Amino acid sequence: MDNTFSSFNPISRTLMGPGPSDVDPRILTALAKPTIGHLDPQFIELMDQVKQLLQYAFKTENALTMPISAPGSAGMEACFANLVEPNDKVIVCQNGVFGGRMAQNVIRCGGELILIEDEWGKPTDINKLADALKTHPDAKIVAFVHAETSTGVKNDAKALCALAKQYGCLTLVDAVTSLAGVELRVDEWQIDAIYSGTQKCLSCVPGLSPVSFSPAAIDKIKARKTPVQSWFLDMQLVMEYWGEGAKRAYHHTAPVNSIYALHEALVNLHNEGLEASWLRHQRCHEQLKNGLQSMGLSLVVEQDFRLPQLNTVYIPDGVDDAKVRSCLLNEFNLEIGAGLGVLAGKVWRIGLMGYGCNERNVDYCLNSLQAALD
Ligand code: PLP
Repeated sequence: MDNTFSSFNPISRTLMGPGPSDVDPRILTALAKPTIGHLDPQFIELMDQVKQLLQYAFKTENALTMPISAPGSAGMEACFANLVEPNDKVIVCQNGVFGGRMAQNVIRCGGELILIEDEWGKPTDINKLADALKTHPDAKIVAFVHAETSTGVKNDAKALCALAKQYGCLTLVDAVTSLAGVELRVDEWQIDAIYSGTQKCLSCVPGLSPVSFSPAAIDKIKARKTPVQSWFLDMQLVMEYWGEGAKRAYHHTAPVNSIYALHEALVNLHNEGLEASWLRHQRCHEQLKNGLQSMGLSLVVEQDFRLPQLNTVYIPDGVDDAKVRSCLLNEFNLEIGAGLGVLAGKVWRIGLMGYGCNERNVDYCLNSLQAALD
């Protein structure tokens, strides 16, 4: 084995897959600022700003709004591990890969899983949720993915939460791909627990998971009869460091520089305006959709349920999936995503997320794809 090593210098790509997305150079600059202590008063001030900016991004006043020091999957685990107690009935709506992971989380937490399934590429059928809630009036939680990255479907978070609330359930929502890319209103839509990721429409580096818990969710956590199995993700402990009026007691060493990066990403979002960001994603989606359709390609998801930031496109008959993607990567430095799960080999996933969601990138993607197909 060669035992000479040198610095890693990746070539710059245009990332238009399902994430990570292109990181704004301003965010990379923020990441390179000097590391300070995670209990330094300057850092504590920054933490307060990050919490306020996340409240802005989530449209919530929830005091417990903060980033988990690990990727989106850890945000998912934090929500389930804290809210699900053994034998709690939890309804999970699944229409893609990530809903399936939610179901796995319920089982691993000892909950009783009630699974509602819909076809991949179609939204969750609210009537199925209504039936499940009638059949299981003792259900405690309804969980679903707002933006299903595996299919490009947007589930109707507002309607699903409103229905769950009529039955007294807590609502638990995956917003890994939705945050900042599409309308999301945590308080107005009555979402009790939500998690996201930094590497999608926030255009930040991967590795952090913004979460938010409502007062009702915190009450459930505080009333637990059994301790949360995960020490690291136990929100009662994490609250001592991140929570409102917290003692800022040492819990774990926060990923200081990543928090600088998240702060910069959120400042960018705040400067642009949340609604303006949603509109930009929609505008670029229209441009991409028109271009793809004029190339004879068709999108998997119907217009009304389509995510602007994640476009699933059918691979035309006779076209070699891997060959096209590797041509894009090697000749155009452009990454698009392969299909996942049942859609593997059938679709490409084209991301329009955050900083990378702009007219120039859409044109570049369309021209490169046309060249790869010719
Ligand atoms: N949920 C959804 C909808 C996702 O798209 C992803 C990642 O793509 C995750 C959860 C997991 O996030 P991470 O890969 O950051 O752990």
